[in-house]
Amino acid sequence: MSARVLDGNKIREDIKDELVQEIEALRSLGIQPGLAAVRVGVNPASKIYVRSKIKACESLGIFSESHDLAEDATTEDLLYLVANLNGREEIDGILIQLPLPEQVDAKRVLQAVDPNKDVDGFHPVNIGNLVSGREGLVPCTPAGIIEILRRSEIPILGKRAVVLGRSDIVGKPVAMLLLHHHATVTICHSKTRNLAEVARSADILVAALGRPAMVTSDFIQPGATVIDVGINRLTKVDEIKRLVRNPDPWLAKMEAKGSVLIGDVQPEDVQEKAGAYTPVPGGVGPLTIAMLMANTVHAARMRRSVRFASSHQ
Ligand code: NDP
Repeated sequence: MSARVLDGNKIREDIKDELVQEIEALRSLGIQPGLAAVRVGVNPASKIYVRSKIKACESLGIFSESHDLAEDATTEDLLYLVANLNGREEIDGILIQLPLPEQVDAKRVLQAVDPNKDVDGFHPVNIGNLVSGREGLVPCTPAGIIEILRRSEIPILGKRAVVLGRSDIVGKPVAMLLLHHHATVTICHSKTRNLAEVARSADILVAALGRPAMVTSDFIQPGATVIDVGINRLTKVDEIKRLVRNPDPWLAKMEAKGSVLIGDVQPEDVQEKAGAYTPVPGGVGPLTIAMLMANTVHAARMRRSVRFASSHQ
């Protein structure tokens, strides 16, 4: 039996519809949420990411602006800009598009962002809030994964979840969120022994490795829910032939577009063995931007309610 496809595009549209209503309600109070995106250098991928984030803001009625700094920008240049954005009333969210060039101390820059405006959820204050289960801003991709599970009515409570990958932006925060939703969570990484065996124990398997199609049939418990976070771009015929059993549709797509995207999960295996799964593309990816928008609206509300509360004290 073929597995159920968890359609990220559909879930993103549902979230956007809800956000439109929230933004409308804020507008009636004279508030327009605002996002500032900061980008450094010429990296074409990060240019595309920022452009799609700005476009998403515009489509929802969120004020947005983008700051493009030259490739040789310094840590001080970024700190100056961030301080300015921190102080601006109409900016609720500050997004620093990663990666930053080598000469920039990325940790210092991320730490300089006002935690109340940290819509990526990377600031140590928000990480602390996440770990201790306090209200705060949660990293977008992990938050999106929980939305997919919740809105697809896939139970988390009491389930065994295995997260493949321990990065600060995906693996660790998603593991924490699953734990808060009462899963029994195992986090795996490059030093984990018997990776496939551990993965096979999962009712919910999250793959965030950055390794094309590494999660094959022997990693998947029959009927498990498999969330594929990986985004890997393939450009070589040989690679496609090595990774998929029926390469023809992939090769046709590559011929048309020059490259194809594949996740960390082998697409044919997951279809055959899982109970439900997120495809690549069209699974987790669409949720990441939707959750950035949700975080910006959340930040706008949080900042105002803090101010209202303190002004009444
Ligand atoms: P990182 O490279 O930061 O982390 C990868 C993790 O996988 C590490 O913890 C690493 O272990 C582990 N790992 C790598 N290879 C192996 C292996 N052979 N066996 C076991 N563990 C392994 O990646 P990210 O978390 O940033 O991203 C993961 C993937 O998700 C990427 O494909 C990325 O493009 C994608 N992504 C997608 C997003 C979306 O919106 N859909 C958003 C963000 C990322 P160790 O720590 O020991 O090195």
